[in-house]
Amino acid sequence: MQDKKVMEFETFSPEETLELGRKLAREARPGDVYTLVGDLGVGKTVFTQGIAQGLGIEEPICSPTFTIVQVYEEGRMPFYHFDVYRIGDIEEMDEIGYEDYFYGEGLTMIEWANLIEEILPDHYREITIEKDLEKGFDYRKITILDR
Ligand code: ADP
Ligand code: MG
Repeated sequence: MQDKKVMEFETFSPEETLELGRKLAREARPGDVYTLVGDLGVGKTVFTQGIAQGLGIEEPICSPTFTIVQVYEEGRMPFYHFDVYRIGDIEEMDEIGYEDYFYGEGLTMIEWANLIEEILPDHYREITIEKDLEKGFDYRKITILDR
């Protein structure tokens, strides 16, 4: 089995999660796919906002729950923000033309990527956000695994 690099971070406020996203955005390259896993309200959109800011996108990120994908062109590369929480059928992803994004020239970020596992690319960066209430209401553990 291949060794996988796992990175773990802890944040104690939304601002720290934003800042981590901004930092990690510096590593992003065109064509990268990042997935976000975690319960509702854990901070996936906050983290995504940080990534967007790190790419130089100034407009606020809205969770694209009803459109599935939102495209931002103003940063150092295009940013494709998917939220597939409400996806009914994997064919909806075909209709959107997801391959143009996943294999395109921008950074793709997918909230609830576990719902579309069968169409994820061979390699992607999996970001998991978890709470631990024993460590406080605003505590989050953020784990990054390159698959
Ligand atoms: P999701 O997209 O995962 O459903 P959101 O990012 O929309 O979640 O919301 C996360 C909520 O948790 C926000 O209200 C945010 O202020 C709050 N929060 C508290 N602590 C943190 C933290 N450490 N990191 C991120 N968000 C946090
Ligand atoms: Mg969200």
